[in-house]
Amino acid sequence: EKFRSGLTKTRDVFANKVNNLVARYRKIDEDFFEELEEILIGADVGFQTVMDLIDELKMEVKRKNIQDPKEMQDVIVEKLVEIYENGDEQTNDLAIQPDGLTVILFVGVNGVGKTTTIGKLAHQFKSEGKNVLLAAGDTFRAGAIDQLEVWGDRVGVEVIKQGEGSDPAAVMYDAIRAAKARNADVLLCDTAGRLQNKVNLMKELEKVKRVIEREIPGAPHEVLLVLDATTGQNAMTQAKQFKEVTNVTGIVLTKLDGTAKGGIVLAIRNELQIPVKFIGLGEQMDDLQPFDPEKYVYGLFA
Ligand code: GDP
Repeated sequence: EKFRSGLTKTRDVFANKVNNLVARYRKIDEDFFEELEEILIGADVGFQTVMDLIDELKMEVKRKNIQDPKEMQDVIVEKLVEIYENGDEQTNDLAIQPDGLTVILFVGVNGVGKTTTIGKLAHQFKSEGKNVLLAAGDTFRAGAIDQLEVWGDRVGVEVIKQGEGSDPAAVMYDAIRAAKARNADVLLCDTAGRLQNKVNLMKELEKVKRVIEREIPGAPHEVLLVLDATTGQNAMTQAKQFKEVTNVTGIVLTKLDGTAKGGIVLAIRNELQIPVKFIGLGEQMDDLQPFDPEKYVYGLFA
């Protein structure tokens, strides 16, 4: 239900336009593909991904000798899933450690929904019976620590913090010590998302990672980049930049409920080869869902 209502905008605009297109045309010609191209671009599927998709569709039409535009409905849906999966069985599972502590680092610029996502995930892990701890590693932005504490209180998990302006690596050190002492299962770490100064950001993230790695070999187990879906191609640019400064293992795409441009999921996967692991569909605790390409695309067109 949450899933359905969260994607209303993308469904109303993107999916309905496709439905309307296949119903309106009598034959599959260049005009048909041009209109489809526009719809896909409008849904932020991304130029390169749209081109790949249109090529695939044209080949499929030839291969199967499809005449009726109405038959294209299913073909388009299938190809959208296929282009996301990109020939490989992408799993969106997190690298949760069966024994011992799992450390997840969150990166992303301010305002994208990083704190909210950490809170939602903490809630999810807690409901699974896991012992969760948060690390207030964004010591740069005023209010970031307080904001994380608000979520900590809401969800009922402890936040390890130091004062504003303190060294994030020192916070991580404390947090890992605390996690070990409390036998925590999962440690979710906030970081400062300063993209304006890439060299500093890289240094800061490297230092934080070094401390984590030294305390727990193999950690951090995930580096999740949080992106705001409503910012469209801006989110793509951020993803490219973060990919340059750190090893991103997955993406959390927030605020999909606030946009009709849900096609960005496909662009991110196809152009950056980073899996989307979660989608945010609202501001509440349970408004985070694991991303499943089939469920997503079929859900849009159902
Ligand atoms: P941060 O600066 O990256 O930590 O961003 P916040 O977590 O403070 O989120 C910024 C704003 O976006 C807040 O008002 C959140 O409630 C809102 N937000 C976060 N995720 C979602 C989402 O999935 N959907 C909607 N509609 N709002 C969201």
